[in-house]
Amino acid sequence: MTPDEFRTHGHELVDWMADYLRDVGTRRIVPRVRPGDIRRALPDGPPDEAEPFERVMADFERLILPGMTHWNHPGWFAYFAANNSPPSILAEMLTATLGAQCMSWQTSPAATELEQVTMAWLAHMLDLPPGFTGVIQDTASTATLLALLSARERASGFAGERLGAGQRLRVYASAEAHSSVAKGVKLAGYGAEALRQIPVDGRYALRPEALAQAMARDASAGLVPACVVAAVGTTSSTAIDPLPAIGELCRRHGAWLHVDAAWAGSAAIVPELRHILDGVEHADSLVFNPHKWLLVNFDCSAYFVRDVDTLLRTFTITPEFLRTAHDPDVVNFRDWGIQLGRRFRALKLWFVIRSYGVEGLRATVRRHVALAREFAGWVEAAPDFELLAPAPLGLVCFRYRPAGTAPDDPALDGLNRELLARVNASGRVFLTHTVLGGRFTIRLAVGQRCTEREHVEEAWRLVREAATQAPSEPAAP
Ligand SMILES: *Cc1c(COP(=O)(O)O)cnc(C)c1O
Repeated sequence: MTPDEFRTHGHELVDWMADYLRDVGTRRIVPRVRPGDIRRALPDGPPDEAEPFERVMADFERLILPGMTHWNHPGWFAYFAANNSPPSILAEMLTATLGAQCMSWQTSPAATELEQVTMAWLAHMLDLPPGFTGVIQDTASTATLLALLSARERASGFAGERLGAGQRLRVYASAEAHSSVAKGVKLAGYGAEALRQIPVDGRYALRPEALAQAMARDASAGLVPACVVAAVGTTSSTAIDPLPAIGELCRRHGAWLHVDAAWAGSAAIVPELRHILDGVEHADSLVFNPHKWLLVNFDCSAYFVRDVDTLLRTFTITPEFLRTAHDPDVVNFRDWGIQLGRRFRALKLWFVIRSYGVEGLRATVRRHVALAREFAGWVEAAPDFELLAPAPLGLVCFRYRPAGTAPDDPALDGLNRELLARVNASGRVFLTHTVLGGRFTIRLAVGQRCTEREHVEEAWRLVREAATQAPSEPAAP
């Protein structure tokens, strides 16, 4: 592609992107494809000869786009939203254009220093207590793995190089914790049996007295409580674990406290919601994902640590070819995580925070939370529906339960599964499910940048319509 062709196609592409963002709400949100459809439509081997860009683009529209799930659709209520925004997209284009590897200060001084500045901005926006230093990671899963590795090193006297050093260490998280915790425990070499799943209360938050018992029992058996992962906003129901009580237990046992606020953390920029992080002053580390709720493209995960020395002792290995004369005076973010090469992720964060301002970002979060609360109110007022968990933020967990049906009627799971499938078959909205207290639960997560009241109303209308189409006599499961 010549520079002139690049210019022409680039302009055309930006027009395409602007049209897409404007019209995405008119597309089917979830595609109508079966497994293998797209692979079968593509050639088995690569082309030997160069193909014109127009042909590649035409195939993108013909073969790829119809197989995409549209995360930018305002009817997006599934999982948690993965937002982007026009300023973030433009910044990603610049990042791609610069193509810099931002592993060391020297390999792009501005990238390192902008990352320091934007992380300090985020710490300020979350009103974190002094002492936290931030670094951008790809995902919350990676950040939680870093916390587990740092905790392992601290608890074992930095013995990570000795085989089996983690064997007597124990990790604690609620039964509702994200799967990345169990995965991190496995990857960090604690051994799967090291993870203690602590029971939750009626609001699906960790029960601190159960944690106290588990830690005391392990300590008296000669095991070492190394780390507690507390959730602020669980993925199933946005339950908020009690950080003050957990922090107190961690201090007593010398355990690392990692806070997983992957989705809900963004809400803490809103003063009246900041209380979700009460007790964060006890934490050793915290992660939240601007790529979920702060309008920044995936991937951008903000990891804050209190003890940078432990982080560096855990991750620093400097081969000769990476040494530079600046090392004593600068931060080299390659030592703050697993990978060596790093994308320039701070740029999109900077573009977004400046383009919206903190007030603009707060307004987005407030709108989503208000819409979710309104939806929760409709569910509560409807005789044939019920809430299955508190809805403190943007997520509503509910199900259809026809009047007169017992709460533990075994037919309800199947009924709700069918209802959800019918709602999603509309192509207008996309909702997903979880299981809470053994019950099939429909999740409506409000958090897509373009979602307005009309889209939440449409979701509620589709849910009620699907309920009236449900078999009146629930079929046996
Ligand atoms: C989404 C989520 C994660 C995983 O986030 P990734 O960035 O995709 O790894 C972890 N914990 C919670 C609570 C989440 O909601």
